[in-house]
Amino acid sequence: MRLQDKTILITAAGQGIGEASARACALEGARVIATDVNADLLVALHGVQGIETRPLDVTDADAIIALATDLPDLDGLFNCAGIVHNGSVLDLTDLDWAFALDLNVTSMVRMCRAFVPGLLRQADHTGSAAILNMSSMASSVKGFPNRTAYGATKAAVIGLTKAIAADFVTRNLRCNALCPGTVDTPSLRGRIASAPDPVQAEKDFIARQPMGRLATVDDLTPTIVHLLSDGSRFVTGQAILVDGGVTI
Ligand code: NAD
Repeated sequence: MRLQDKTILITAAGQGIGEASARACALEGARVIATDVNADLLVALHGVQGIETRPLDVTDADAIIALATDLPDLDGLFNCAGIVHNGSVLDLTDLDWAFALDLNVTSMVRMCRAFVPGLLRQADHTGSAAILNMSSMASSVKGFPNRTAYGATKAAVIGLTKAIAADFVTRNLRCNALCPGTVDTPSLRGRIASAPDPVQAEKDFIARQPMGRLATVDDLTPTIVHLLSDGSRFVTGQAILVDGGVTI
């Protein structure tokens, strides 16, 4: 029970990595506040022991402040929400760019601004609090074709993470970024289905993973639990790769 007595909020917990993380954290004893813009998706978590659900659009600054006011101080915050914009710089409109930046980066700024005061109070009280920001191997770590907005915004997540880690390193509040490889989630399935040749698209996604398979959400959750737990108490400001060897 590595997260016993910890209250942890997770964004984008309606499906995919966020949902699996909510379940994994609850199994480790946490009180999990599972949030998502899509309240219908959260229904699958209703009744799961240790999990409470709250609708939250991370692009809505007022809603974030209202939620932070309503909740007790957190021990852990997992900023998981993010989207993939497909295309090179030639396909990228100002509108696409602004949306990717807003959802993938600015949302995390808003969440941290609202929840860091409470995280610091908890860190003063218990000696430990943690933020985990979702980045990607497609970031400052490595470039991938057709991932201009995605790679740039996920690189910004790593910069944001290091800056927050530096600001609070003496206050027992840690901040790390997670950089997964290609994970089999509903959003990946959507990208495969919308490709001109879905069969080939799936083969291409698998081919870029040297282990010869996609990651499952369960390949990620042990690291997510670890980074939110006191087991990682000397780890901060790091971009942790869980990429099946893509960046060896
Ligand atoms: P997913 O599409 O399966 O789930 C995304 C969830 O985000 C959905 O439940 C959706 O309702 C929610 N969401 C969308 N907009 C939101 C908003 N404005 N506010 C709150 N919630 C919102 O996605 P996933 O593949 O599990 O990805 C989750 C995170 O992991 C993203 O940040 C993604 O960039 C990152 N990531 C995914 C992969 C991958 O291969 N799947 C790899 C690296 C990083």
